[in-house]
Amino acid sequence: MILTIDQGTTSCRSLLVSSKGEVMAVAQEEFTQFFPHQGWVEHDADEIWETQLRTIQAVFEKAKVSPKEIMGIGITNQRETTVAWDKTTSKPICKAIVWQDKRTAAICEDIKIKGLGERVRERTGLVVDAYFSASKMMWILSEVPGARELANQGKLLLGTIDSWLMWKLSEGELFATDVSNASRTMLFDIHSLEYDEVLLTEFDIPRSALAEVKPSIGTFGYANILGERIPITGVAGDQQCALFGQACFEKGMVKNTYGTGCFMLMNTGTTCHQSKHGLLSTIAWANGEKTVYALEGSVFIAGAAVQWLRDGLEIIENAADSEEFAEQAEYKEHVYVVPAFVGLGAPYWDMYARGAVFGLTRDTGKNEIVRATLESMAFQTRDVLDAMSEDAGLKITKLRVDGGASANDLLMQFQADIITTEVDRPANVESTALGAAYMAGIGCGLWQQSEIKQLRRSNRVFKPLMEQKRVDRIYKGWKKAVERSMQWIDHEP
Ligand code: ADP
Repeated sequence: MILTIDQGTTSCRSLLVSSKGEVMAVAQEEFTQFFPHQGWVEHDADEIWETQLRTIQAVFEKAKVSPKEIMGIGITNQRETTVAWDKTTSKPICKAIVWQDKRTAAICEDIKIKGLGERVRERTGLVVDAYFSASKMMWILSEVPGARELANQGKLLLGTIDSWLMWKLSEGELFATDVSNASRTMLFDIHSLEYDEVLLTEFDIPRSALAEVKPSIGTFGYANILGERIPITGVAGDQQCALFGQACFEKGMVKNTYGTGCFMLMNTGTTCHQSKHGLLSTIAWANGEKTVYALEGSVFIAGAAVQWLRDGLEIIENAADSEEFAEQAEYKEHVYVVPAFVGLGAPYWDMYARGAVFGLTRDTGKNEIVRATLESMAFQTRDVLDAMSEDAGLKITKLRVDGGASANDLLMQFQADIITTEVDRPANVESTALGAAYMAGIGCGLWQQSEIKQLRRSNRVFKPLMEQKRVDRIYKGWKKAVERSMQWIDHEP
């Protein structure tokens, strides 16, 4: 059996996964979100650890399983969030700075002014942004009293959540991270698999404060779980784990998570592709022999547009109702909703775009608006997939889906139609947690990677049915709608 630790942005979860790949028990508990200032988001790392530990204890109690039966531990986590702690006391020196936190935007502007954008892009695969760990570490070193002194004495540790959990699980024996988490720090050279010395120097971050980077699959060290010594054998960031959990092992395979936003990752095999459309290049996972890369793109507003129908327009009562209304839509002319509520991300990158509805006629009613809103998720997904496909020079062979809105059959069928590719929804949508379990299971010798494909079961495969001419016409309309919603807000050039 495998113990999976799934440390998310709002809750901690622990799962027991059987040798058949089945989830035997789940325990979940939320923890506190701190918003001390506009744009700041913090977590208490000690609280995260205590919450995580309680869910570990709970999952063993629920399943009536002894820790002796656990062959390996898998860890998956919210990415980029940064914890700083004192090596000698194991106490955090400040609250963890969460990936959503924007306090370091000015630091990032300085990094760009210094002309380091290109090096960041080339070595780390990322764009300079407050989202990633580096500027958060810089902020801690300069703003938290005593941090720099502690670092000078070699006693400060700066890590992502996986490092923090491994430190606590191993009772201070293990200060490690995996390549996928390291590739989100904006310090890690994803080609040489070492921290980039130039960036460390420029950002003034001491190497001694950073975790040792290991392959995602393999033995990291040992955890003490309820008195039992158990190896940690699989670790990766949440999106990468979801890609693995969806068994997207071959290049050209893509997973898309339809949540508040959409998160897409494409396996690009052992080749790292630089994007021309503002997508990120990142490490998907490594197993000690092979490093697999991915292109990553996200859509800001996906399920959130359905929330807008519910809470803003109040034309549906709950998200699932959207399907029924959309089914009754009758388009004489296609209606488009461009949900650019916060601007547009990849491949448009226009923060001055705003939302718009196009194609309204006297016949347009609620059903059509609902349908157009659902379709906007599929169109935006196609935009990113086309960019990925072009960047990697690969045809997308399959789209595997998960997340809340993937339950919507109408949306999934339209998605398959508009990308003219099969859309495959798994029976178990716990892709992230399963991915971590699979990695840990391979790492401890329970499974071979080839067996994982058999463990994943489809719930439904949506085949493209729409005539190509119609697909082209509808998608062309979407592009036109997007174009007209761009640069809406007046701004100084
Ligand atoms: P997150 O992890 O971002 O909170 P979830 O994966 O839980 O997101 O998915 C919730 C999102 O999916 C919400 O934005 C909701 O509006 C949307 N959603 C949930 N169910 C459906 C559905 N049946 N049809 C369309 N959208 C849905």
